[in-house]
Amino acid sequence: QLATIGVTGLAVMGRNLARNLARNLAPDGQRVAVHNRTAARTTALLEEFGGDGDFVGSESLEDFVASIERPRAIVVMVKAGEPTDAVLDELVPLLDEGDIVVDAGNAHYTDTIRREAALADRRLHFVGMGVSGGEEGALRGPSIMVGGSDEAYERLGPILERIAAQVDGTPCCAHVGAGGAGHFVKMVHNGIEYADMQLIAESYDLLREVAALEPAGIAEVFRDWNDGDLESFLIETTADVLTHTDPDGTPFVDVVRDEAEQKGTGRWTVQSALDLGVPVTGIAEATFARSLSGHGEQRAAARAAFADAPAAAGDGPGDGAGEAFVDDVRAALYASKVVAYAQGFDQLAAGAREHGWHVDLGQLATIWRGGCIIRAQFLDRIREAYAEEPDLTTLLTAAYFADAVRDGLEAWRRVVATAVRAGVPVPAFSSSLAYFDALRRDRLPAALIQLLRDDFGAHTYQRTDREGTFHTDWAGDRAEQRM
Ligand code: NDP
Repeated sequence: QLATIGVTGLAVMGRNLARNLARNLAPDGQRVAVHNRTAARTTALLEEFGGDGDFVGSESLEDFVASIERPRAIVVMVKAGEPTDAVLDELVPLLDEGDIVVDAGNAHYTDTIRREAALADRRLHFVGMGVSGGEEGALRGPSIMVGGSDEAYERLGPILERIAAQVDGTPCCAHVGAGGAGHFVKMVHNGIEYADMQLIAESYDLLREVAALEPAGIAEVFRDWNDGDLESFLIETTADVLTHTDPDGTPFVDVVRDEAEQKGTGRWTVQSALDLGVPVTGIAEATFARSLSGHGEQRAAARAAFADAPAAAGDGPGDGAGEAFVDDVRAALYASKVVAYAQGFDQLAAGAREHGWHVDLGQLATIWRGGCIIRAQFLDRIREAYAEEPDLTTLLTAAYFADAVRDGLEAWRRVVATAVRAGVPVPAFSSSLAYFDALRRDRLPAALIQLLRDDFGAHTYQRTDREGTFHTDWAGDRAEQRM
């Protein structure tokens, strides 16, 4: 009997996805074909987890392809970048018209657009599929963002919707658009994840440095927050990791080097946002904060050079203790999070416009409620906001979020002011507040920038009181002329 679907690339993600597929397809008597460049991984999967379902293992790519029913559906789950092209180069000549190749790795969406075009020339469907939730998600139910043709989704959708996480009976899987849409959406999801984690890290820093709480106490605070509207996987996980200690009792967070790494999706998100002209300040600050943490030499030099400079003016570390401050941090975290998500969703909308994808933002919020790293109660509110107003200009003004920001505004300002005085860096908190203040400002100093540009570069400007484009002769008689 031929397999319904195949998976090639059986490292941690591919193996778990294959097991998830096999478990869900076995009750219907369907099989899953598996393959890996190094055959030992295939053998290990069959030996250790063969009982999960009905696998067909192959050592060669030819046998693997031959073991799948047509039109074939083949999931490629290998290292992103060149390895994906290497696999496609080998795989494509073995396929037949109408077959579907799914790249489930973390590809850059522009690579996906390129690969889709190349495979379309050979009458093959290429699907760029964003999979979130790490290895646990891949095994038990990820959030799946599918980019590709309608025809491909018709064949894949019923299978993917079964293996995805389910929330209130709704699968966390959707066809988000054509071509690179799935990987684009996954990229921005990861960018939002960067911002979310940075905001959590800044909250932790403030609770530790200003409120003088110990990690175990901060874990309690996060556990408490997780009972409210901040309820999310990342808040819950923060409480969990903060309770962990080294064998000698030292808080584990104190024995780990304070250098955050990145694989690149945050950087890609910011690069794309710059191209699209979308100010994703929260994601950008989060990405730069990770980068800064890795500059050990500069950090050491600055520490030495400014050893005698007081870290804090006014109320220093430890002076801000008290429940009121803890509650202020919660409100600031929530408001900053609203900004970070509003910006991320702006980027999703802008990317969709740029590439002509019909990305349904409310549907995205729906499929991110389960399976993925940013899963949170919060996403239900986003889903509701788009259900109420599909053409929302910014999430910030949706009634629920506007109320939350309005209610938290004073606390947000107090927290940022306290952090600045205490010398605790809060780039995501403060840039989110600056974004909010800028957005609601009646007049921005951008008018002055326009004048400077017109002065040194004759870049022209527009007036508030008259239609048209103007230039002033700054070096001469300062006469204004309509251009
Ligand atoms: P890795 O990214 O570590 O990739 C290892 C797999 O790629 C192995 O199966 C390896 O085969 C294969 N591979 C590498 N180079 C080649 C090549 N030139 N030709 C054929 N096969 C090759 O594995 P992960 O399971 O961690 O991730 C797989 C994909 O999923 C990646 O794109 C990753 O970004 C993405 N992803 C990962 C998540 C995670 O939490 N880890 C979450 C979401 C997506 P071999 O065994 O022969 O070396």
